[in-house]
Amino acid sequence: TRPGFAGLYARRESEARSYCRSFPVEFVSARNAVMTDSEGRDYVDFLAGCSTLNYGHNDPDMKRALIDHIAGDQVAHGLDMHTSAKSAFLETFERLILKPREMDHKVMFTGPTGANAVEAAMKLARKVTGRQNIVAFTNGFHGMTMGALSGTGAAGKRAGAGAPLTGVTHMPYEGAFGKDADTLAQMEMMFDNPSSGVDAPAAFIVETVQGEGGLNAASPEWLSGVAALAERLGALFIVDDIQAGIGRAGGFFSFEGMGFTPDLVTMAKSLSGMGLPFAALLIRPEHDIWKPAEHNGTFRGNNHAFVTARVALEKFWSDDAFEAETRLKGAYLADRLEAIAAVVPGARTKGRGMMRGVDMGSGELAARICAACFENGLIIETSGAHDEVVKVLAPLTIPREELARGLDILEAAAHRL
Ligand code: PLP
Repeated sequence: TRPGFAGLYARRESEARSYCRSFPVEFVSARNAVMTDSEGRDYVDFLAGCSTLNYGHNDPDMKRALIDHIAGDQVAHGLDMHTSAKSAFLETFERLILKPREMDHKVMFTGPTGANAVEAAMKLARKVTGRQNIVAFTNGFHGMTMGALSGTGAAGKRAGAGAPLTGVTHMPYEGAFGKDADTLAQMEMMFDNPSSGVDAPAAFIVETVQGEGGLNAASPEWLSGVAALAERLGALFIVDDIQAGIGRAGGFFSFEGMGFTPDLVTMAKSLSGMGLPFAALLIRPEHDIWKPAEHNGTFRGNNHAFVTARVALEKFWSDDAFEAETRLKGAYLADRLEAIAAVVPGARTKGRGMMRGVDMGSGELAARICAACFENGLIIETSGAHDEVVKVLAPLTIPREELARGLDILEAAAHRL
């Protein structure tokens, strides 16, 4: 059983055991940042479907648009067909997201989950460059399919699949060998040096903040350095924005204002706005070279998700208000977490924006803190492959007082344990 929870999990026996988180109740409803169990108890949600519900649970405008769409006999599944829902989503995405950020990327609908977008990115980089090797980073997480898994740094995540695939080189993420180790210089020596004998890579794939890997946040300088190295080598620079994107760790994209534009960007999780499976890959136009049917799949472009995603863009990204409010909440969160870390010997804060947490120094302590929070009405979890890091992923739409209430519960738990 999970450390910290005395009771049995609320699960049916027919469910397979590969789940990684479980709470000892049955959840029956949810609105914005609050979930309710079958006994009528409310919980502040600091998990938000692991950043899938950046706009909270059951946004009324997205829900209304989806109900109207279904009620009106609109196309539910169009595969590759051009549908009114797809067209409206693309028009909005171009107008509100791509154009203001001076991006002319093509949008490829890659399949329902983040891993699908990562697979597409890795395959496309190989096709564009004619090279095989993908450079990924220690502690990175890119998904559970075989290709995405081979790019995943955490051995624990790969263990169940046996040996990782070949063709991926893992390099140290910024700070992996301590603050002063120059991991960028190491990469330059290895890849940008004819006498090293190392083949030039097809791509570098990186998270700006490592969501599952312990909330390590790379500096803009280091990320720009990797982007510049990729460019010098003729390799593609892929930002995996599946967890850090869509407002979570910066602007709409987590890399905004950092001085580079990736060749490829993977997106999923909060892209649909209300938790529908929906992923996309943004591709610089010159790399949009797949011939028809070279990369496809059945569930590419969910028409229900096109509807809700478009409403989310119009509602939250047509002016700066949401982004500005998210930044304020991120700063408040940072201050509160500093105070919480100060009461646990050796603890330290990590992350960026509204993607932050506290490294409690031990997985056992972090699990006990999460369990104590749950007893007191807060859903909070640790970072996937780093269970010593308690991670706050509240919906970005959480009202300030609810955010404060959740942090009060976390602070009380940290004080007691
Ligand atoms: N990339 C990152 C950065 C992620 O955090 C995740 C999931 O947590 C994935 C890829 C995989 O996405 P999915 O679980 O939807 O396949």
